[in-house]
Amino acid sequence: MNDILPDQTPDWQYLERVFRELMQSYGYQEIRMPIVENTALFKRSIGEVTDIVEKEMYTFEDRNGDSLTLRPEGTACCVRAAMQHGMLHNQTQRLWYTGPMFRHERPQKGRYRQFHQFGVETFGFTGPDIDAELILMSNRLWQLLGMSDDVVLELNSLGSAEARSQYRDVLVEYFTAHQDELDEDSQRRLHTNPLRILDSKNPAMQTLNDNAPQLMDHLDDESRQDFTALCNLLDASGVKYKINPRLVRGLDYYSKTVFEWVTDKLGAQGTVCAGGRFDGLVQQLGGKPTPAMGFALGIERLIELIEVPQQVKAQRRPHVYLVLAGEQAQSKGLPLAESWRNEVSGLRLQVNCGAGSLKSQMKKADKSEAEMAFIIGDDELEKNALSIKFLREKKDQQQVAFDKVIPYLQKIVSST
Ligand code: ATP
Ligand code: MG
Repeated sequence: MNDILPDQTPDWQYLERVFRELMQSYGYQEIRMPIVENTALFKRSIGEVTDIVEKEMYTFEDRNGDSLTLRPEGTACCVRAAMQHGMLHNQTQRLWYTGPMFRHERPQKGRYRQFHQFGVETFGFTGPDIDAELILMSNRLWQLLGMSDDVVLELNSLGSAEARSQYRDVLVEYFTAHQDELDEDSQRRLHTNPLRILDSKNPAMQTLNDNAPQLMDHLDDESRQDFTALCNLLDASGVKYKINPRLVRGLDYYSKTVFEWVTDKLGAQGTVCAGGRFDGLVQQLGGKPTPAMGFALGIERLIELIEVPQQVKAQRRPHVYLVLAGEQAQSKGLPLAESWRNEVSGLRLQVNCGAGSLKSQMKKADKSEAEMAFIIGDDELEKNALSIKFLREKKDQQQVAFDKVIPYLQKIVSST
């Protein structure tokens, strides 16, 4: 679990802002769920025989003896919240959330025990138009972040529950015939969750998986039609994709469309964004049948891929660092700074606190990355003017009368 330190938070804030604005522009609303839920929620939704539920959850008993779990992902929580608050009856929802998720995995680059996701979930839309919308939205995010060249879209359809259960039999037959080639995990999954064998990250399983019967050849008619329609919508929108018949996703609740955006820039942990339909989940959790589709993206992996624009970086730096040399200047400084802040909206001003010599204050001014230092000392107080020293540009020191400071600041702020 990582601390996110002040030199990193600006990147996070930038991502959060871009994401929030993107969501607004498509008419999605934010939902905030608790970080802790009943353990049963995750067991019933994600599935008992998944990596997450089998070995990754942070589960504990609270003081009442209830079994609670730090959320390993947001979809189940979002479904629980939407059901609980009657948001699914006779209506559609387009929702998004962000926040920490917890999985007790082996920590490595791109894989942490507390990590963060942006998530999007929609309810009440059968698709494939909404499937396309979600993919287009994620595609636009890569464009906004300037990382379109770093990711490729992989698509698959898992079909209806019935089609999947027929396919499951075919798959069990195939893997049973090759039982001696299965690794330990796959042996275990053969009878509990054979589709997950296809998702194996073990290179030794690659050839066996490549030759396995493909779900695409066992789809029900509706799933096949929807999948074709989705591909047509993506073609018409100019979004490139690769159909990956082995894309099954690690969670049990998916059906029909599934997709991942993957990159080769991050080593082994290449999935940046992953999602799909989960038409059966609401009913599975006790609600009425409700079509649903969503995706989640890992913020840590995104942070690795993006370059924050210079212009955005510049907006973090103070315009002005106020140097207060001498006791008289110090007593005047804070009230003066407040009066400027009252008048100049958008002003980024850092006031020297803790006194210090002129030299040490100028050092702090430089470290603050401010564009300029405003200096007030005895000399300035006498002249009713402050001195301006430019810290980045080669420009001569200036003096500005106290009663001209506000228009001066307004000019600086409006020109940046
Ligand atoms: P993976 O195949 O990488 O284990 P997953 O299928 O477990 O991913 P999801 O549950 O679909 O992942 O989560 C969506 C996204 O969240 C992933 O694509 C990834 O970007 C991110 N993510 C998942 N687990 C972690 C983790 N432990 N640390 C950092 N990011 C993660
Ligand atoms: Mg995982």
